[in-house]
Amino acid sequence: MKNVTGARCTLCGKVVPAEPETTVCPDCGGILDIEYDYEYIRSELGRKPLEQRTDRTMWRYMELLPVEGIGNRPRLRVGCSPLYKAEKLGGLLGIQKLWIKDDGQNPTASLKDRASAMAVVKAEEAGKTTIACSSTGNAASSLAGNAAAAGLSACIFVPARAPKGKIAQLMMFGARVFLVDGSYEDTFRISAEAIDRWGWYNRNAAINPYLMEGKKTVSLEIAEQLGFVMPDYVAVSVGDGCTIGGVYKGFKDLYETGLIDRIPRLISVQASGCCPINTAAAAGTMDWVPQEENTCADSIAVGVPRNPVKALNAIRESNGITVNVSDEEILSAMRLLGSSSGVFAEPAGAAATAGLKKAAESGLIEKDASVVTIVTGNGLKDVNNAIRSAGEPVHIRPEMADLEQYFR
Ligand SMILES: *Cc1c(COP(=O)(O)O)cnc(C)c1O
Repeated sequence: MKNVTGARCTLCGKVVPAEPETTVCPDCGGILDIEYDYEYIRSELGRKPLEQRTDRTMWRYMELLPVEGIGNRPRLRVGCSPLYKAEKLGGLLGIQKLWIKDDGQNPTASLKDRASAMAVVKAEEAGKTTIACSSTGNAASSLAGNAAAAGLSACIFVPARAPKGKIAQLMMFGARVFLVDGSYEDTFRISAEAIDRWGWYNRNAAINPYLMEGKKTVSLEIAEQLGFVMPDYVAVSVGDGCTIGGVYKGFKDLYETGLIDRIPRLISVQASGCCPINTAAAAGTMDWVPQEENTCADSIAVGVPRNPVKALNAIRESNGITVNVSDEEILSAMRLLGSSSGVFAEPAGAAATAGLKKAAESGLIEKDASVVTIVTGNGLKDVNNAIRSAGEPVHIRPEMADLEQYFR
């Protein structure tokens, strides 16, 4: 890879070669961060060359991605999700310039497709035919879908609490699925042991440094869609921390490449019932403390975050802010997104918007700020919580009298 110089440990700083199967630091076990030759990238990538590209997937930013190419296998269409100008929602939240980046529009309906598409390509580079992960749901369903498209097998470990919609996707994509009776932490541990035992490719965001590189494409798109004029803030929901780390990395890459002149401040949103990263960030420490997983937003119910270092760095280095939201605030943001904008979000997908609402109301961000809120997952994945949020329809007999009564 001409554009990649190596992988640097986020804890001890050691640099190792970036091989397809590189996972954590061989010395201290820290998570690695892929490093680029920005001078080379600057010579290859600019606004003009980008404008001319017809590729409408995340791979249009090839110079900034740690792959040799994507080969000839069939791929799902991942990335290039819509960025909607959300005037009505902005009005309701008191924010003058608001956009919604709807990543629920990815092929398996979450932002995780960006990481899984990357993982599948790296697994192929490593010569693997089976790829495995543990997940609260979306990493798993996206892996299953992207693996199925490329003709790889997937082995998936999910906590038993995962919503039905996500499990249905897994089964439909033909993955081997293990529902683990236990927390996400237990699920992660058993998957790691199994990957060791059977030598599969490891798609655990906790240790695979390439996944964040896939996720960062969401920021590359936001920048391009806004004509490289950066918003003041980008709101994102946080569980393991890989997503917010990726959002930051994408902006940092563009900054280093000279395509943007400032990095937006990140709004890190967690659920009040499970907010170890925000608690540490707010206290200005890297020493996070495990928490229980008490929230309806299953995708961000992560009591033992796997990517705390990159997440905390992203918040600190972007001069970011932290907001925690209750389940009621999340359910209410789901309704707001749906009824004001026609965007259907799962609870974790609406959490960022819930946090943004709270930040605007409490004066944490300025009224004339420009903001992008990322919807990370589609609401059809978790229909039970959608109904909890939006309520049940009116029952009628098939008679006009009932309707007339209703409209009177
Ligand atoms: C995974 C996920 C997140 C959070 O990403 P992390 O990398 O775990 O912080 C947020 N929303 C949805 C819908 C997700 O699937």
